[in-house]
Amino acid sequence: LFAAVEMAPRDPILGLNEQFNADTNPGKVNLGVGVYYDENGKLPLLKCVAQAEAALQADPKARGYLPIDGIAAYDKAVQGLVFGADSAILAAKRVATVQAIGGTGGLKIGADFLKRLNPNALVLISDPSWENHRALFTNAGFKVDAYPYYDAAKRGINFDGMLTALNAAQAGTIVVLHACCHNPTGYDLTPAQWDQIVATVKARGLVPFLDMAYQGFGEGIAQDGAVIQQFVASGLDFFVSTSFSKSFSLYGERVGGLSVVCATAEETAKVLSQLKIVIRTNYSNPPTHGAQVVANVLSTPALRALWEEELAGMRLRIRAMRVALVEALQKAGVTQDLSFVTRQKGMFSYSGLSAEQMQRLRSEFGVYGVDSGRICVAALNEKNLPVVAAAMAAVMK
Ligand code: PMP
Repeated sequence: LFAAVEMAPRDPILGLNEQFNADTNPGKVNLGVGVYYDENGKLPLLKCVAQAEAALQADPKARGYLPIDGIAAYDKAVQGLVFGADSAILAAKRVATVQAIGGTGGLKIGADFLKRLNPNALVLISDPSWENHRALFTNAGFKVDAYPYYDAAKRGINFDGMLTALNAAQAGTIVVLHACCHNPTGYDLTPAQWDQIVATVKARGLVPFLDMAYQGFGEGIAQDGAVIQQFVASGLDFFVSTSFSKSFSLYGERVGGLSVVCATAEETAKVLSQLKIVIRTNYSNPPTHGAQVVANVLSTPALRALWEEELAGMRLRIRAMRVALVEALQKAGVTQDLSFVTRQKGMFSYSGLSAEQMQRLRSEFGVYGVDSGRICVAALNEKNLPVVAAAMAAVMK
């Protein structure tokens, strides 16, 4: 039966982790990861999460099946966070939201639903994008192309290229957009640029799918969600996937969601019924624990305030590390303009280093980043920064 099965290619980032684990260099630093580490290089357990979990444990409950679309209070909390609690489209019941297995699950439910709706649509993702975007939409049965995004020479976004590509796209084309903290580059569009994207998407009849995996990691919860308000104001129907993996440091609990903005309450009810079919035929219904924790934190004022404080702490620490990295590189004699590092948002930085330089970082200094030049700024701390800066400076000279 399995004689013809071929070995699938290894996940490049997991491969990097294996290589890191095997490295005997005592000063090794792993910046290839896609997670937030605290100032001690540890994955944090947020206090708001620990407190919500303690309250749940103090009053343990049996765990029946959840509804197909998840915990109602959770879905409501997701909506409040993404669209604003007093949003008019929520009051008008124009948003169908379902609990999903991480942000990945939200994307997959949306992709499977879109495949039923518009099977021949082309999907456009950014060049470059989170690696799983292409694979996920391809496996959902779509042809996937890319729109220009990163401009290496400019250390920024090829905005004209992006607009031109969207203007040339056929009506019905699904456009996957990073709502904030673009992975992998760290470069985000300005509100004025988003206005132009929204206008183009509308004029061309494209289908926007916003991936919001880092809300709160860029400028703040509301600021990072501002693009959602711009799409709401346009009157367009659109998709938003949500991930709490990073913002709650709940990677392994797989807590996410999918929201679909529709034209009317009636359409919303129909869309929700179809999303439920997608879920039902894939995994029946979602798991309880992580979503219950997030729902409790978001809907309990004291826990919510604590979460916002802890999220701000993560955001500010990343920003401080960007500033410290630039200063350390300059001190180590790097003279080129490094202002792009502090312009970037979120966990990642496209360092501008070549694959060859990234390989030298690994082999000569034990500093692990992705060959694309991506480093995880959220994995930097006061202790490993001098090692990283010295290594980067050595390969940059
Ligand atoms: N979208 C982007 C842009 C991401 O970077 C990630 C995770 N790294 C996801 C989606 C998936 O999030 P989750 O781990 O919650 O599935």
